[in-house]
Amino acid sequence: MRLILLGPPGAGKGTQAQRLIHKHNIVQLSTGEMLRAAVAAQTPVGLRAKDIMASGGLVPDEIVIGIISDRLDQPDMKNGFILDGFPRTVPQAEALDDLLRKKHMRLDAVIELRVNESALLSRVETRVAEMRARGEEVRIDDTPEVLSKRLASYRSLTEPLIHYYSERRKLLTVDGMMTIEHVTREINRILAAIGAVETRTTRKPARMAARKTVRPARKAAKVAKKAGKKPAKTARKAGKATSGRTRKTVRGSAKGSGKGLARQGGKAAKKVTKKRAKA
Ligand code: AMP
Repeated sequence: MRLILLGPPGAGKGTQAQRLIHKHNIVQLSTGEMLRAAVAAQTPVGLRAKDIMASGGLVPDEIVIGIISDRLDQPDMKNGFILDGFPRTVPQAEALDDLLRKKHMRLDAVIELRVNESALLSRVETRVAEMRARGEEVRIDDTPEVLSKRLASYRSLTEPLIHYYSERRKLLTVDGMMTIEHVTREINRILAAIGAVETRTTRKPARMAARKTVRPARKAAKVAKKAGKKPAKTARKAGKATSGRTRKTVRGSAKGSGKGLARQGGKAAKKVTKKRAKA
């Protein structure tokens, strides 16, 4: 599973990424974390990034794209990843598209955590207080002044990605104002609905079994129609029954379809709930 988490600073991307990597056994790629590690280790990249990060600006594209490209080549990427904090601009998103194409990787979805801006400052204040209480070092860019700069940068440079991924039918929007637990549940629900996660509704054997029976039955009906004959009863029946089953299974998995993923996910999830209630 390959995902991008999109949202302003304080939206909960890091928290949700942590929960997703444990549940789905994938890796979190946070450019912010990687850059902070580079700053701490005083590598050449860290030395270039240090002051930019402290002031809330964006580190040059070639640095972050280089970091991501190297990381995607590591063997632990095989199960998938969550990108957190990258891409942050349209040129970075275009560069990512290129990278993924060259590396023969496909993005499953982009999850946007939508939050009220007014809540962000208090969230970041809470994060700082919790880090202090745990005796952890507090980020130097977690101050009200730098946060407002990071927010402005999000609005002007990162928000256009919502349109970018929506046009490419990749965007799934989740209400990030719910509790952490609710947000996680909602993300997992829509991932299941688009078929990024295997669930009871997206069982492959059922779909494959349906296909096997549909094809010969439909073929027989077609041949009979061409010959001007009424198709054999069994062929018509088999065609009807199995095509019904096929439709249901396909609806459960909107992955790769031409329609809006979020909307389809909602429908599919409703169907799952109904089915479960019946069972
Ligand atoms: P974050 O932890 O995602 O809030 O990132 C912390 C800081 O790292 C940002 O304010 C930027 O200075 C820098 N940074 C992280 N990701 C990127 C990126 N994709 N492009 C440019 N700068 C980045």
